[in-house]
Amino acid sequence: AYIVRFRMRNSDPYVKCGDIVKELEEKCRTPVSKLRHIADAMTVEMHAGLASEGGSKLKMLITYVDNLPTRDEQGVYYALDLGGTNFRVLRVQLAGKSGIEYKEFAEVSIPPELMVGAPEALFDYIAAELAKFIASENEKFRLLPGRQRELGFTFSFPVLQLSIDSGTLIRWTKGFSIGEMVGKDVVAELRKAMDRQGVDMRVSALVNDTVGTLAGGRYDNKDVAVAVILGTGSNAAYVERAQAIPKWHGPHPKSGEMVINMEWGNFKSSHLPLTEYDNTMDAESLNPGEQIYEKLISGMYLGELLRRVLYRMANEAALFGDMVPPKLKTQFILRTPEMCAMHHDTSPDLKVVGEKLKDILEIPNTPLSTRKIVVEVCNIIATRGARLAAAGILGILKKIGRDGFRDGAIPEIVIAMDGGLYEHYTKYRNCLEKTLEELVGDKVANHVKLILSNDGSGIGAALLAACHSQYI
Ligand code: BGC
Ligand code: MG
Repeated sequence: AYIVRFRMRNSDPYVKCGDIVKELEEKCRTPVSKLRHIADAMTVEMHAGLASEGGSKLKMLITYVDNLPTRDEQGVYYALDLGGTNFRVLRVQLAGKSGIEYKEFAEVSIPPELMVGAPEALFDYIAAELAKFIASENEKFRLLPGRQRELGFTFSFPVLQLSIDSGTLIRWTKGFSIGEMVGKDVVAELRKAMDRQGVDMRVSALVNDTVGTLAGGRYDNKDVAVAVILGTGSNAAYVERAQAIPKWHGPHPKSGEMVINMEWGNFKSSHLPLTEYDNTMDAESLNPGEQIYEKLISGMYLGELLRRVLYRMANEAALFGDMVPPKLKTQFILRTPEMCAMHHDTSPDLKVVGEKLKDILEIPNTPLSTRKIVVEVCNIIATRGARLAAAGILGILKKIGRDGFRDGAIPEIVIAMDGGLYEHYTKYRNCLEKTLEELVGDKVANHVKLILSNDGSGIGAALLAACHSQYI
C-alpha cells in the first residue's frame, strides 16, 4: 500500500482520473448501432417469453387485465401501492364520463427493516396504515350503504398471476428480501393482515405498477398502449393481442387483448455495455445475476454506480487526496436524487457538487477540477442508462409493429411514463426522449408521445378495482 501511495503522490491525480474516466466512457458507449441490437434482442426475448412459461429471462407475465378503463366507472374505490421506497394508500371517487371527482392519498416511507424482515411485519404495517386511512374517512366520500369497500393492490414485484385478484411472488427486487414470501399468494397475505388489523375490504385487483400506470394512462388518453416505470426499479407493460400469446391457454378474451407485464428489468443481452462496476455491484447485490437491465437504468442503482467509480478514483488516483474518504466505502450512500442534483449543477464553481460531497461523503473543500470529474462521471452513467431505456422502448414498439408505417400511415401511440427517475432527473429524461427520436426517426417520432402519468399506478389500480368490482 505504501508503494502505491508513493507513486500516486508523485503523479498528477487528474491525469490518472482522466484515464479512468476515459476508460469508463469507452465501456459505457451506446452508439445507435448497439442500441438497435439491444432493441432487437428485447423483441426476440419478448417473443420467447410469450411462447412458453420460462422461455426467456423476460417473464412476459399474463396480468388477467383484458379490459382497460373506459370512463364508465362509478363509485368509490381504494388503492394500495407498494413497491418502492414509499408506500401509498389512496381513495378515488369516480364519476363516469366526468372522470375523477375526488381523490385523496396518504404516503409513508417503508422502514428499511421491514423490507428484509418477516412477511407479517410488512403486511401488518401496510394494513395498519390502511386502517388509519379509513378511520379518517372524509365526508365527501359517498360509499353506498351496505357496500363493502373495494381495493386495487399495486404490488410492484414479479408476480405469477393466477387470476385478477391473486398471484404468487416470483422473487423480490429493489432491496426487498423476505424469503418466506416467495411462492406465496400476496393477496392472501394482505387479507390475513387486514383481518388482524380489523380492516374489512375486498381486494378486487392485484396489479403491477406498470399495469396500473397503463390503466391510469388509458383512462386519460385512449392512445395509451404502453407503460414504462423508471423509478427505484424499472419495468414495462403493454397491450398485446391475445393471439400473439402462445402460452395463454385460458379463454379468449372478448377484447382480443391482454395486458402483459414484461418484467423487463430482468432483461439481459451480450450487447449490454457492462463494466467492472456493474459486475461487482451485481455480485454484491441482494439478487446477483438478476435484474441486470434494471441495474443499468434504474434509480436504485445509478447513484451506487457513481459511488463505485469515485471509490476507484479515490483509491487508485487520489481523486480526493491522499486519504480515501471512509464514507465512500458505504454501499448506496450516494443516492440517485443526490447524483441528479450534482449533475444539474449550473453554478460556475459547482457549488452543489461541493456541498453534496461535503454533506454526504464528508469531503470538505474539493477543488473545481475534482467537482468537474464528478459531474462527468454522473453524465456518463446517466446517459448510458437513459439511452438503454430508450432502446428497450424501441424493442416494444417493434414487437407491436408501431415503430413505423402501418397500412400507409403512422398510428398515434402514447406511452405512459412514471417513476421518480423519469419525473425528476431532467437530463436523464431529455436524453431518453432524444435517443428515442433518434432511433425511430423524425417522422415516427411525431406520432410517439411520452406522457408523465404521475401517480397513474395508484389511480390505475383503483380503476381496475372498479372494473372488477363485485357489484357489477
Ligand atoms: C419490479 C417490477 C416493477 C418495477 C418498477 C422492478 O424491480 O420487478 O415488478 O414494475 O421494479 O417498480
Ligand atoms: Mg411507484
